[in-house]
Amino acid sequence: MGTRQRFVADTMMGEVARWLRLLGYDVVYSRHFTDDEILRLASSTGRIIITRDKRLHRKAVKMGLRSVYVEAVESAAHRLAEISVKSGIEIAADPSKSRCPECNGELFKSDKERVLNKIPPGARNAYDTFYVCSRCGKVYWEGSHWKNIRRIVREARTIRDKMLARSKRRQTPQDS
Ligand SMILES: [Zn+2]
Repeated sequence: MGTRQRFVADTMMGEVARWLRLLGYDVVYSRHFTDDEILRLASSTGRIIITRDKRLHRKAVKMGLRSVYVEAVESAAHRLAEISVKSGIEIAADPSKSRCPECNGELFKSDKERVLNKIPPGARNAYDTFYVCSRCGKVYWEGSHWKNIRRIVREARTIRDKMLARSKRRQTPQDS
């Protein structure tokens, strides 16, 4: 597996940042970032900017930085599909690859005994695989909400495939 794309998300992209982290992508995000901070971060770390701000996007492109301008407003699935098309990332749900949606920390598999005091009794009995965030210590498991995550990921892939098919049809020999 090659190195995965890394991102910096603008202040309006909190939900997208959480989704990309769930899908395993390293996404730096803060509600307090200024445009200059985002541009500096992108240029010093090679992160791809994700933004809904056209001005910031244009500025980034002018500076030679990679930037994804997100237009989709319909749903998280639409936004993920658009980001996948524009940045080339794969969208797949695999809890063992997830990063912490809260803080972007890496997750490590943990023995049940070690996290017993941090999980509700229901999860204690129903699950065997647990992950702990290396940064904030939050504990995760593949609970019932993953059914919903997988559904939205499937939806995003379907939308993406349609978008790709449409752009292929639009291409004419003169384009290349
Ligand atoms: Zn965390």
